[in-house]
Amino acid sequence: MSVETVPKDLRNLRACLLCSLVKTFEQFEMDGCDNCEEYLHMKNNSDAVYDTTSNNFDGLVALMGPEDSWVAKWQRIGTFTKGCYALSVTGRLPPGLVRSLKNKGISYRPRDVALKS
Ligand SMILES: [Zn+2]
Repeated sequence: MSVETVPKDLRNLRACLLCSLVKTFEQFEMDGCDNCEEYLHMKNNSDAVYDTTSNNFDGLVALMGPEDSWVAKWQRIGTFTKGCYALSVTGRLPPGLVRSLKNKGISYRPRDVALKS
């Protein structure tokens, strides 16, 4: 597993609202999200980190081999980078961001499993 994507600290953990990757606030602010930086622009932008990640999530999956993991397929993270992922993330991306994702051809599905959408 690549070391950069593994949470360095168990405090201050947040999960990306788009891909459910779990890292510390500092890691998101330093490196952005390893899967979604292209869309979410968290790097050096603490406001964006607050807007596009959530500190309220459940469950943790360590993704080692995305290619042949049934868990990855089930969680819809098969194409993502190796790392730790939340099973459920509470919260939603801001509506403006959801619209701009849509314009780029990405349909946002909230990762909050408690929500009936
Ligand atoms: Zn992400």
